Amino acid sequence: MTAAIFPGSFDPLHNGHVEIVERAHRLFDRVIVAVLRNPQKSDPLFPSELREQLIRECFAHLRHVEVVTMQTLVVEVARSIGADVIIRGLRAVSDFENELQMAQMNQQLSGIETLFIPTGSTYSFISSRLIREVATFVGDVSLFVPEPILREMKERFRD
Ligand code: ADP
Repeated sequence: MTAAIFPGSFDPLHNGHVEIVERAHRLFDRVIVAVLRNPQKSDPLFPSELREQLIRECFAHLRHVEVVTMQTLVVEVARSIGADVIIRGLRAVSDFENELQMAQMNQQLSGIETLFIPTGSTYSFISSRLIREVATFVGDVSLFVPEPILREMKERFRD
């Protein structure tokens, strides 16, 4: 049985992330979405518990997707849940430099390999940071995020 871990902040999860998970789901028996709880980021859009709960809701239609919260190194989480591969999405060449370094570090630390999935052109311009920015000024993000996230963002920015 093959398992892949897809780590990230997912603050919030958007359609670019969904596409990567759906494609990974076709390649692996299990896909574990690992939500980073970063105590240094004091003001997330959504707390990690809510992010985890919403992401679970977004992938309720995919039987082999699991969601966990992580507070330690990705390689440690991968080891503890039995993941063989780390999945990362690539939007543009600008992502690559940083991602390459991380992949090399993770490989050195634990032997785990990273699989890069290039984003389709439809969602390549989307990032969580941009979604947060647009939503802050009450812009319409409905084309970019799944329904449960949109619902929660409307609630968050209602006032
Ligand atoms: P980070 O790990 O920097 O907190 P995110 O939570 O935003 O990043 O994203 C997690 C993963 O999803 C990363 O591999 C990132 O490259 C990928 N990703 C982010 N946005 C997109 C997108 N629009 N299309 C495909 N992959 C994406």
